[in-house]
Amino acid sequence: MQRLRARLARSQTSLGRGLLSVLARDRLDEDAWEEIEEALLTADVGIRPTTEIVERLRNRTQVLGTRDPAQLRSLLAEELVTALQPELDRTLRTIPSTDQPSVVLVVGVNGTGKTTTCGKLARVLVADGRTVLLGAADTFRAAAADQLQTWGARVGADTIRGPEGGDPASVAFDAVRVGRERGVDTVLIDTAGRLHTKVGLMDELGKLKRVIEKHGPIDETLLVLDATTGQNGLTQARVFTEVADVTGVVLTKLDGTAKGGIVISVQRELGVPVKLIGLGEGADDLAPFDPVEFVDALLG
Ligand code: GDP
Repeated sequence: MQRLRARLARSQTSLGRGLLSVLARDRLDEDAWEEIEEALLTADVGIRPTTEIVERLRNRTQVLGTRDPAQLRSLLAEELVTALQPELDRTLRTIPSTDQPSVVLVVGVNGTGKTTTCGKLARVLVADGRTVLLGAADTFRAAAADQLQTWGARVGADTIRGPEGGDPASVAFDAVRVGRERGVDTVLIDTAGRLHTKVGLMDELGKLKRVIEKHGPIDETLLVLDATTGQNGLTQARVFTEVADVTGVVLTKLDGTAKGGIVISVQRELGVPVKLIGLGEGADDLAPFDPVEFVDALLG
């Protein structure tokens, strides 16, 4: 928790402290509510969730007529947690069945942190006693497979790769085949983030999926999003949720932004559970996403 607080320091300073200082005023007048709204929008919470949070908070403070800072903080925290849809199941589907490894496909735009996330996730699983095989299905970017292999060597996972410029689907197919033969627990497949056109992306991901599913179902499709790209990233993310059966979101680079409110926006707009958050470039900088813990860290 202390670590999460430290990593969210930038968001905490700009959003958490800002909101709490307005709520601590003697009077919550129209200007104060506008400032709260502005702070949420500036932190990338998005228009719809901001309006809902402010409306509910306003009603509840009026009904209770409270000026107690601790109570106001907890009302605010409750509303932020509610906006993060705490009822969603955020468990990673990485438990292998008896004859088949669990298969995790990692998708998203280039540069969002897919390869890094594969490495970090492999590390978490290996530390948990699982065997992991990495599939380097990003065959377009010259260094991508090297980068994944380096992560694999670091965390104790082998990497299956194909020739540069080769067919990503065939690498993914091989990775699952080898994973099966070796009896590994989880196969993590890193993909290329080529969002040239929606149709192109659909063809590419569709083929990957069809080919992998010759072995069996894909257990988890994780969409990696860069928190620092804000509402733009969200627009791109929508395309992915439309073309791939995304089962979870990984929001990376939350350490590098003052706009931690993007998590609320992503959660509300995509409706897919945010399952993991990236809090740095290091191997241990991946955390499960817990709405209550996150809001607590955000409010400091
Ligand atoms: P890919 O193209 O989607 O595979 O992206 P990469 O995994 O190559 O990551 C792009 C850059 O983002 C690299 O420099 C990573 O070290 C960095 N990165 C990834 N995740 C995080 C994170 O959670 N925090 C920070 N600060 N940097 C990250």
